[in-house]
Amino acid sequence: MQKVLVVAAHPDDEALGCGGAMACHAAMGDEVAVLFMTDGVSSRLSAGQSEAATRNTAMQSAMSILGVSRFQAMTFPDNAMDSVPLLEITQVIEEFCSDWGVPDTVYTHHASDLNLDHRLTHQAVMTCFRPQPAADGKPTKILSFEVLSSTGWEGTTADSFRPNYFVDIRSTLKKKLEALDAYSEEMRPFPHARSLETAEHLARYRGASVGMPAAEAYVVQRILECVTRSEE
Ligand SMILES: [Zn+2]
Repeated sequence: MQKVLVVAAHPDDEALGCGGAMACHAAMGDEVAVLFMTDGVSSRLSAGQSEAATRNTAMQSAMSILGVSRFQAMTFPDNAMDSVPLLEITQVIEEFCSDWGVPDTVYTHHASDLNLDHRLTHQAVMTCFRPQPAADGKPTKILSFEVLSSTGWEGTTADSFRPNYFVDIRSTLKKKLEALDAYSEEMRPFPHARSLETAEHLARYRGASVGMPAAEAYVVQRILECVTRSEE
């Protein structure tokens, strides 16, 4: 059994970015946890208690659909995480892991993303999980996901999202879409980039690009592998 940690800026990023992989891990008996950084709504002019409560209810439904065993929602300022020292964001991840354990695999945002909360979350994760002898080689895998209507909207940069790791989600695409449907308040009608149809098109496209019916695409930030051979 592996420990899998998803660190997402906002509730819905996890389903958009790695919902299919999360459901695969859960189906294999892995322990999946999610750490959210903001409530995802408080920056909106119209936001009130009821909008936050709706997003919270959606988050809980998505966690249940995706088989998440533990999740925690922080209250950093939505779309204003740059008002918080990076150290503070990093410490939240460290505290979560000191309680839950150091994960084997981490999924988080990509550095090249229009949303500043996404970029800062990525930076905090890479800071938290910088390689240390005391960490005993964990996490062995750090992967960055793409978020529709954010990753890829930042314009072309040298480090634009160019996937080099794919997870076959043919068996869990339905659950990913169900989890996204739980966040229906956040989804928009097609052809908006953040629509259920687009999410399925992206999964089909990412899959077809590597000869699979459906996949999620990632950028490898780091993989630590120990290759041993027995004496002949
Ligand atoms: Zn987000």
